[in-house]
Amino acid sequence: MRPVAMDPDYRRAALTRMSAETQNILVIGGGVTGAGIALDAVTRGLSTALVEQRDLASGTSSRSSKLLHGGLRYLEQYDFGLVREALRERDLHLTTLAPHLARPVSFLFPLTGAAWERAYIGAGIALYDTLGGARNMPAHRHLTRTGALRLVPALRADALRGAIRYYDAQIDDARHTMEIARTAASYGASVATSTRVAGFVREGERVVGAHIADLENGETFTVRAHQVINATGVWTDDVQELVGRGRIRVRASKGIHLVVPRDRIIADSGLILRTATSVLFVIPWGRHWIIGTTDTDWNLDLAHPAASGKDIDYLLDEVNRVLRHPLTHEDVEGVYAGLRPLLSGESDATSTLSREHAVATTAPGLVTIAGGKYTTYRVMAEDAVDLAARALPGRVPDSVTDRTPLVGAIGYFALQNRRHELAATSGLHVVRIEHLLGRYGALTEELLAMIAQDPTLGEPIPGAEDHLQVEAVYAASHEGALHLDDVLTRRTRISIETFDRGIAAAPHVARLMAPVLGWDEERIVREVEHYEARVAAERESQRQADDLSADAARLGAPDVRTAVGS
Ligand SMILES: Cc1cc2nc3c(=O)[nH]c(=O)nc-3n(C[C@H](O)[C@H](O)[C@H](O)COP(=O)(O)OP(=O)(O)OC[C@H]3O[C@@H](n4cnc5c(N)ncnc54)[C@H](O)[C@@H]3O)c2cc1C
Repeated sequence: MRPVAMDPDYRRAALTRMSAETQNILVIGGGVTGAGIALDAVTRGLSTALVEQRDLASGTSSRSSKLLHGGLRYLEQYDFGLVREALRERDLHLTTLAPHLARPVSFLFPLTGAAWERAYIGAGIALYDTLGGARNMPAHRHLTRTGALRLVPALRADALRGAIRYYDAQIDDARHTMEIARTAASYGASVATSTRVAGFVREGERVVGAHIADLENGETFTVRAHQVINATGVWTDDVQELVGRGRIRVRASKGIHLVVPRDRIIADSGLILRTATSVLFVIPWGRHWIIGTTDTDWNLDLAHPAASGKDIDYLLDEVNRVLRHPLTHEDVEGVYAGLRPLLSGESDATSTLSREHAVATTAPGLVTIAGGKYTTYRVMAEDAVDLAARALPGRVPDSVTDRTPLVGAIGYFALQNRRHELAATSGLHVVRIEHLLGRYGALTEELLAMIAQDPTLGEPIPGAEDHLQVEAVYAASHEGALHLDDVLTRRTRISIETFDRGIAAAPHVARLMAPVLGWDEERIVREVEHYEARVAAERESQRQADDLSADAARLGAPDVRTAVGS
């Protein structure tokens, strides 16, 4: 298997292939669930196509807390099976599937109550460490108040009596989802973004394919398939309704996160804090912290959920309860909001709804999968393909995705050990090489080859100096990016990791992408204007008091894909 370059030629060929040949499996939705399904199906030897209406991971899968975790708080709900399964997935990613993207992260759990609290929380964390045989992580440790303050000097001394330190894992969700899709494409799946399912092809009651709109040029086409799988997260009901009401129903719960620079909180560990209804994480994220999250019902625009001023104030208030130097609005570099696709009808309180998933044949020929969480996407994918496979002729092999490393993982450990040599031969500082290895894994060699051809690509991106220019080019030439927003928001996180939210970098990134995507001057200007309008609308929405006005403000900027296609 050779890693495929997902460039415009690849997209054209994928579209031709999927419309010309009946597929075994057509997957709708390029979030982590849909990408996982495409990889599961194609590696079982099934012909597979994946369509995504916007960009890979543009829905919930780029907007999570980015933790691969068992969910400490599910222990309180006695959901041991769910926790064990998720911890197994966490460890699989650290060791085999995506060791270049997944990394351990330390959390401090401050204790505030009486002695029994240490015993109670300690027992839970000890169980967490053992469930799933979590041997890839350092074990948890009990700390005194002094020990905890030494680790996290940012904490107010009166905010804790002691603490427990434990470990989990984190991953760049958007890059990971994209890489799953790219791995699927490398095994032969036809993957196309900017393709929206607008209706189903029916033979009697049976679903035998889908009518699809290409949002890049406004054309429509049809893909025929033996089985169609609806993996559209919070859009599940909308897609299901194209064939009538189904058994699985999903509702959206909004969670927002803040990004602040690392120096605003002096700490050598992340934090997990109890709130009235849930928990709050302070998560190390490169040279930044991610603080989140909230949990509120959302019935407004699904594509662009808006964070309101109230959401932001809530997170600042919660984290400031324990910080010696409170954070202010001026400390916030980035804000993002996402929607949890929750199976509906189990409980009225969103925070107590289970993150477990449901999979069912909701119409003949149509499998629907929903719910779950990021960490367990691979298990969800396996379940969905197992169910679809029952309706396919012949015996379909079992899933092999627990043994199928993502494209950047193959050879990663060896390259990591050779990083000083790579620095010497490329002329880049070893810190830059480590940055590339942590984002591209073994595919770093492809980026270094591009720099060798054109050394200017080894220069930093003006306005986003943490990234090299080659990353913007590579996103368009190898990673399926079709718009400026794809690169600034998901291939990189420039949109939340800079105080100007990527405005200064935007024109430079657009010019780097232009030759690959065949953009003329007018198109470059249009992409930049779109991005600027999006940032302005987000900033405006974040000044609004409530969801309704925040949503209205966010809708002031149209989606770049809708505008191109119309
Ligand atoms: C705030 C927050 C924090 C979270 N934190 C964590 C965490 O730390 N760890 C964890 O394990 N989980 C976490 N989760 C949960 C996790 O992010 C989600 O469960 C997961 O990302 C859902 O992925 P998905 O593929 O099902 O949905 P999505 O990522 O939303 O993908 C669905 C895709 O379908 C596409 N689509 C919709 N309609 C159509 C159509 N008609 N045609 C074509 N395509 C279509 C959409 O554009 C979208 O890209 C969090 C969720 C939230 C909201």
